[in-house]
Parts: sequence; structure tokens; C-alpha cells
Amino acid sequence: MTGTPVDAHWHAYGYTGPRGYFPHHERDAPTDPASWLGRPASEIMATLSGPEDAEAWMRQQLAALPGAEGEPGYLSASLYLRENLYAAQSTTAWASYRDRHDRHVLRLLAACPQPSVRRYPWEKPPPSCPLGEPSP
Ligand SMILES: [Zn+2]
Repeated sequence: MTGTPVDAHWHAYGYTGPRGYFPHHERDAPTDPASWLGRPASEIMATLSGPEDAEAWMRQQLAALPGAEGEPGYLSASLYLRENLYAAQSTTAWASYRDRHDRHVLRLLAACPQPSVRRYPWEKPPPSCPLGEPSP
């Protein structure tokens, strides 16, 4: 059986860098959803209520900010978007690429809430929803 938990949703994050600035490590953008969900709620670009909405948001972003010719990050983001959203819902779907204006574009969808995180060698509680109750 497939399907999302009842209250599953995605928070969208991202930035568009200045023209001509492309960090050497741009492919190392953090894709761990916990590191994004721990950011201030003010950084959330959009909250999507299902994989269809999340896919539509990312496709709209990719269409608005086309990748540079043959840009592999853009191509792989388009190619793996559905897989990341539908098949691996506890992870993230992201795009990190150079656009046609020579800017670094990062767009990322973090599934929320996250299941308990089991990451060797740490055991961490799942991050809470950034739009939920504020932490004390
Ligand atoms: Zn949330």
C-alpha cells in the first residue's frame, strides 16, 4: 500500500544567488530534511499539502527559472522529482543548478513531519513542524 500519512505535507525552501556567483560546492547543498525543518518558519517559501501540489510547485519553479543549456542539475531535478516525492517521501526533492542568467538556483521540498531519524551514530528525535507549536 502506498500513500502519504494523513497530515503529511511539504515545506518549500530556496534561494537564487547573484549573477555570476556559483559556489564551488553548490552540489553539496544540504538535502537532509531535518536541517531545513529546523530553520525559521519565515524561510518557508510555500507549504504544499500533498505530493501533487509539491510537484506542481517545483515544476512551476523550474519553468520560471530555466537551467543553463545542458545543466545537469536542472535535468536531474526534473527527472527525479516525481521519484523523490512519491517514492521516498521522508527525504527531500531538490533542484540545484545554474540558470540561464548564470545564477545558482536552489529549490528544495522537505517532507514534514519527519519520522524518527536514525542516523548513525546519532539517534535524534524527529524535527517538529516549523509551522507548529514553537519550541520552548
Ligand atoms: Zn510542517
